[in-house]
Amino acid sequence: MTKGKIGVTTDNIFPVIKKFLYSDHEIFLRELVANAVDASQKLKAIAGKGEFKGELGDLTIKVEADEKKHRLTITDRGIGMTAEEIDKYINQIAFSSAGEFLEKYKDQLDSIIGHFGLGFYSAFMVSEKVEIESLSYKEGSKGVKWSCDGSPEFTMEESDWNERGTRITLYLDDDSKEFAEKRKVEELLRKYCKFMPVKIAFGSDIINDVEPLWAKTPSEIKDEEYLNFYRKLYPMKEDPLFWIHLNVDYPFNLTGILYFPKIKDRMEVTKDRIQLYCNQMFVTDSVENIVPDFLTLLYGVIDSPDIPLNVSRSYLQADSNVKKISTYITKKVADRLEEISKEKKEEFESKWDNLKIFIEYGMLTDEKFSERAMKFALFKTTDGKYLKYEDFGKLIEKEQKDKDKNVIYLYATDTTEQYQQIEAAKNKGYQVLLFDCQLDSHFVSLLESKIKNSRFARVDSDSIDSLIKKEEKEKPQLKEGEELDLESAFAAVLPNNASYNLVAENLGENAAPLLITQNEFMRRNREMSAIGGGLNYYSEMPEFYTLKLNCQNPLVVSIIKDLEEKTSAEADKFNKEKQTVDQALKELDEATKDKKYDEITTEQRESRTSLNKQLDEIREKRKGVMTEFGKGNTLLKQVADLALLSNGMLKGKALSEFISRSLSLLEK
Ligand code: ADP
Repeated sequence: MTKGKIGVTTDNIFPVIKKFLYSDHEIFLRELVANAVDASQKLKAIAGKGEFKGELGDLTIKVEADEKKHRLTITDRGIGMTAEEIDKYINQIAFSSAGEFLEKYKDQLDSIIGHFGLGFYSAFMVSEKVEIESLSYKEGSKGVKWSCDGSPEFTMEESDWNERGTRITLYLDDDSKEFAEKRKVEELLRKYCKFMPVKIAFGSDIINDVEPLWAKTPSEIKDEEYLNFYRKLYPMKEDPLFWIHLNVDYPFNLTGILYFPKIKDRMEVTKDRIQLYCNQMFVTDSVENIVPDFLTLLYGVIDSPDIPLNVSRSYLQADSNVKKISTYITKKVADRLEEISKEKKEEFESKWDNLKIFIEYGMLTDEKFSERAMKFALFKTTDGKYLKYEDFGKLIEKEQKDKDKNVIYLYATDTTEQYQQIEAAKNKGYQVLLFDCQLDSHFVSLLESKIKNSRFARVDSDSIDSLIKKEEKEKPQLKEGEELDLESAFAAVLPNNASYNLVAENLGENAAPLLITQNEFMRRNREMSAIGGGLNYYSEMPEFYTLKLNCQNPLVVSIIKDLEEKTSAEADKFNKEKQTVDQALKELDEATKDKKYDEITTEQRESRTSLNKQLDEIREKRKGVMTEFGKGNTLLKQVADLALLSNGMLKGKALSEFISRSLSLLEK
């Protein structure tokens, strides 16, 4: 019997392993089974070359658990190890590299956990003693038994173990007894070893599928097989929309199948449904930093031996292989979508609503994908038609071009709330897009930057003629100060938690008397900050509306007439007063024009302050008069309420007052 000290730099690394890898003890099983798989495949390879002449026999790996004795064994019929090999691979290399490893990554151990295979000695995370019994395939080899109780000392002796291959026995420690429970072992085997390439038996069950679908030749796989594989991986999910089979061996190795799930709304989005494998060994189901963020919305499997697993997550992003892989996958996804959009146009359109979030998210976050997607992404119109961007552009190019040669893309976010404005646009022969997903406000800005000479405008952000301005309209002829008077009068009857700016316009006799609109730019920024990612400042500002008063509408004509009859005497008086003050201010300006600040007399300064104050007072008084007028004018109230109503802004008390006012008007 040999006794010896394992070659480690630290006195005893086991406490370190246990402490740092606490959260992920369970991976020991994956590591040991993976070693058994390796040993079996190596033997097959050697036999293939004719260097092993014996019988391969049944290579099934056996995992056995003894719940009472708290023992777990993993037995393979692979190449086995001689005493020299155990000394070389287990005593020397394995442990010393662990020492180096721990030394090197001391600071980032937390981020490594779960992604690094600690190899054979991860067995010590759960065991108080580990035994190896092995018989090498090499002719004339003798059985050997190695044993170690978790201190750096081990023993090694000849044994009567006479089966080719290796048996690892774990004597589980008190904290790890659960790893001998049948239920637990089975759960872990199914999680980590489900697709390992050599049969693994637990009791009488074979727990793995040695040739998973992604490892087969794509041309030989039927659609039904892809669907069944998906159903097996995600038993609770609805069937996917499409899938892509990835298969590349240069400049890196990668296989896999990615599925596009049905995404109905943003709340449903689940990330990290892609499982990452390395030679059919499960590594992780968290693939952030390996694939671009938007691809984490996909489901499926990626298998690559070229993704470095023994590094921290932040290091992964910088790895050149990972970058290549990520670019490759993005390109493949775009290729496939473009292909489907061409070859199965109708199917693509019918699935668009469920695919849209994924594609828009991709376009917003990945420049390369965005370039590609411009070719196959679809616009949906409020009539339920689907068109490629280019085709839609051609469709509206003539009709929806404004006087400055910009093509205006009209869109609605809610076909019920914006019904009236959509109809107004359609009556002009315009097309209206439907943008009803939360990402859309960000998305609109992206599209504006991508489509040349385009501007996007929500149908209710202005009157339809102003949204697509064909020619400059003549301004209505109003008296001095009258536009502001009308603003005061209307503001008096509108909800007082917002600000209003009234603009008098000539929109035609038949157009609505009053439109309440919200500036496209402001609204978009407000929406973007509401869902994050925009300037927060906008969400804190009060709502700001523009009142478009149609001075050609007969109702407005009579409101203005009434206003003039009731207030023009006072308005004239205010105008005169204002002129006097303005004149005085002008003279003051003249007198102080070329003077430096300290050359201006105190008297002049005080006089300016007082004149400005007078102006304010005149304005306030005038506003008071107009407020009175507004509040007392039934027609004006009715017009304002109708405008609110068509924006879905008339609610509660205001709505019931409107109804009773309407009824009493009808009775007259
Ligand atoms: P790694 O597998 O990363 O090389 P391990 O610490 O798991 O590191 O194993 C070290 C070496 O021990 C392996 O490379 C292999 O040569 C040998 N080994 C481990 N387990 C077995 C086994 N079941 N059969 C044969 N050789 C094994």
